[in-house]
Amino acid sequence: MNIKRTIIPLLLLALSAHLVADEHIITTPSHRLTEVANGVYLAQTTAPLFNSNALVIVNEEDVVVVDSHLTPAKARDLVASIKSVTTKPITTLINSHFHWDHAHGNQVFGDGVQIIGHEYTRMKLAGTPLEETQYVLATAGNKATLARIREMLTNASEEDRPEIQKWFDLYSQQAEDWKEIAPIPPDTTLNDRMTLFRGSREIQIHFFGRAHTGGDITVYLPAEKLAFTGDMMLQGPSFLGDGYVDEWVQTLENLKGLAFETIVPGHGNPFTDRDLISHVQAYYADLWEKVVPMHEQGVAFADAAREIDMTNHASTLGVRRKGVDPQAVGRIYARLDGAD
Ligand SMILES: [Zn+2]
Repeated sequence: MNIKRTIIPLLLLALSAHLVADEHIITTPSHRLTEVANGVYLAQTTAPLFNSNALVIVNEEDVVVVDSHLTPAKARDLVASIKSVTTKPITTLINSHFHWDHAHGNQVFGDGVQIIGHEYTRMKLAGTPLEETQYVLATAGNKATLARIREMLTNASEEDRPEIQKWFDLYSQQAEDWKEIAPIPPDTTLNDRMTLFRGSREIQIHFFGRAHTGGDITVYLPAEKLAFTGDMMLQGPSFLGDGYVDEWVQTLENLKGLAFETIVPGHGNPFTDRDLISHVQAYYADLWEKVVPMHEQGVAFADAAREIDMTNHASTLGVRRKGVDPQAVGRIYARLDGAD
């Protein structure tokens, strides 16, 4: 018997089990809940389809949830999963911003739950959220994906069929889930700052300026030194199609004024590296500078998107390929043309 070969995997197993135990991860049939601070959980769905993060803040008497996932069905799964960590009632839901993938589960929380968001978020969700470009593109994308998978199914071998069928079922279910969406806007708004005092828990809500949308808020727990930033600050450049790239750099500068040690973003995993904010600021400032002359020269935005080279951010943000999202350039062009 080779001792090394036997012992080392056991040690690794023990080590990883230890790490998992330290992180306090609870898994439910639909979710993974990671305790990121005492009584504060990052809630992520485990299904292999796109979704957003939610933050679950369990206080002495109640529960405050930040973001409601992308459909009522996913929000129901979230609410059920929260019951596996606490029996306390959910009293408050906070929307980080209006985007469909963070706010279209709102309706599940019910009349008794206060929904807090920025004035802009209310304006958007009380308007025509099902006609918002990003939602329309997402539903169209789902439809196109389903058509592609259906095509694959007709040509699939018996061996491949079960795996392809699994994906077909997942996307079909998502299309069904979307039919149920009846967006609900926040019933309580802020335009600058608000603080919730729940037992000994202090929950600050800050608006630092326009960024990913016109109304992104950051939820900050000062005692826990933890900030939930939604899509205003991810682990790299965010989606810019509804953004204010010209103001975002300053908004992130304002975010740096908080004494957080951990950022929980709207997608992906928590991080502690403050330098990442500066790297993302540098990216946005650079992108703006590169787009302006293209706009001045009358280059079509799709051509500009192909031409723009951001690979000088490879070492800080892992940008390895030339070209950027055409929606980002289109949005910057719109800002340069005076769009709000
Ligand atoms: Zn978003």
